[in-house]
Amino acid sequence: MSSSQPRSVLIVGAGLAGSLLAIYLARQGCKVLVCERRDDPRRAGYTGGRSINLALSARGLWGLAGVGLDRHVLDHDAIPMPGRMAHPPSINAPLAFQPYSKDPRDAINSVSRGGLNITLLNAAEREPNVTIRFGLRCTDVDLDRNSAIFETSTGQFVHESADLIAGADGAYSPVRYRLQKNDRFDYSQTYLQHGYKELCIPAGPNAAHAIEKNALHIWPRGGSMMIALPNRDGSFTCTLFWPFQGDHSFEALEGALADRRRAAAPNDPLPQPTDAERQAVVGFFSRHYPDAVPLMPTLADDFFANPTGSLVTVRCSPWRHVNRDGTAVVILGDAAHAIVPFYGQGMNCAFEDCRALAELLAARGLTDLDDTLAEFERIRKPNADAIADMALDNFVEMRDKVGRAEFLYRKRVEQAIHDLFPDRVFPQYNLVSFSTVPYTEARRRGRELDQFLDRIIPQLPMSAAPAMPDADWRARVHAIAESEWRKQPA
Ligand SMILES: Cc1cc2nc3c(=O)[nH]c(=O)nc-3n(C[C@H](O)[C@H](O)[C@H](O)COP(=O)(O)OP(=O)(O)OC[C@H]3O[C@@H](n4cnc5c(N)ncnc54)[C@H](O)[C@@H]3O)c2cc1C
Repeated sequence: MSSSQPRSVLIVGAGLAGSLLAIYLARQGCKVLVCERRDDPRRAGYTGGRSINLALSARGLWGLAGVGLDRHVLDHDAIPMPGRMAHPPSINAPLAFQPYSKDPRDAINSVSRGGLNITLLNAAEREPNVTIRFGLRCTDVDLDRNSAIFETSTGQFVHESADLIAGADGAYSPVRYRLQKNDRFDYSQTYLQHGYKELCIPAGPNAAHAIEKNALHIWPRGGSMMIALPNRDGSFTCTLFWPFQGDHSFEALEGALADRRRAAAPNDPLPQPTDAERQAVVGFFSRHYPDAVPLMPTLADDFFANPTGSLVTVRCSPWRHVNRDGTAVVILGDAAHAIVPFYGQGMNCAFEDCRALAELLAARGLTDLDDTLAEFERIRKPNADAIADMALDNFVEMRDKVGRAEFLYRKRVEQAIHDLFPDRVFPQYNLVSFSTVPYTEARRRGRELDQFLDRIIPQLPMSAAPAMPDADWRARVHAIAESEWRKQPA
């Protein structure tokens, strides 16, 4: 491949990463073909099958800003969430709003997955050198020919080749699956014992939100939890994160129906939940999520109708294959690093990938893909590993610690130190969600701060703290922090 030839890119997957990458590369003069397994969501309606809203934060906005779409998405499709609203198990206990940051302007943003995907598809199609084809399912990649093989909805097979093939085809990526067959390809996939299921709190009269609109709602229940993110139409998308088996599990409430469905003959009508099973769901929710039940009129229907998804972490390397003629295959987004959703970072990380790859390709061209793609992986892989770890850790924080007074107090001390020493101390959450410092750096500084808090908190007992942080308490935090720093070797 020489630099004078047209530079062709084939992107497998027109999801969030694939459609954003198409815009970037088209603007660099590449001829871009995007092939997507699903039908066009603008005509077929969006059937994401996964969380229908997502938290978009600084890194995702940085990815969108590179193609000028950040402001558009914030203005047209986002609801800012500057904190969490924790819902206690008792209906009489008060809700607790926990700001994510001392700066009220720091917010994560609830956006519709389908709406964002459509915004990106429309923007990609406005580029003259982008073609998007739907209903093409990638079944394999021919690495020698640098071509991908797609099956059409009528069972035909078509081959598409390009100088660069980008696999943006999600956690179960067929492009990655082909790379896995290469010698010395490292691969691991780990499933959580928890799955997820989406439910809904519909809009109230006049599209009003039934609970606080500007918050990520969370019902932490120890080994499990429910969250709810606001939609602009006044509804909330709730997501249960429950164990598949055991107490408070999906199996406990839907296992008997699943057994009957498995046992049904292929031509039998699909067994439906019994009244007792439906009542059991409502009864269970009334015990564990009592304030949510009156807001969820379709609870039992949604619970049995909506699928239960699994949560996987994928780590692999190398993310690329380069042929002797210079053509290459690369994977990015969930295809390269699927992570669990508890830091709300999978899409954000995928958008960072897109901009990082596009900037490298812009600087180096498509002529030395070997070096460029190696550099892309060198920069991004440690960061993807870091956010994968932090996302797993954050599950414990969300489902278990958020409801505990000791944890809330620790967060209060953390934010106070951040406020008192704004140039020195940044909580990990702030670095991950409100900055674009590398995830590895956010994890390193987060661990340091954690150890620092372990030394400070015993000197500032919760029992002696005022209900609201006052000047005396802040002065004490200041003095103790400074004295601890003085003890540290320079
Ligand atoms: C419950 C849940 C909640 C989440 N919440 C958040 C959040 O709040 N914030 C956040 O940042 N992230 C969140 N995520 C993660 C986020 O959804 C993903 O990280 C993001 O979608 C990755 O984008 P992607 O383009 O790499 O993959 P995808 O969005 O999965 O897109 C892949 C595309 O490839 C297509 N495709 C797949 N196979 C083929 C094939 N064989 N041929 C052709 N096309 C194919 C798919 O149809 C799809 O369009 C959440 C995930 C889950 C499961």
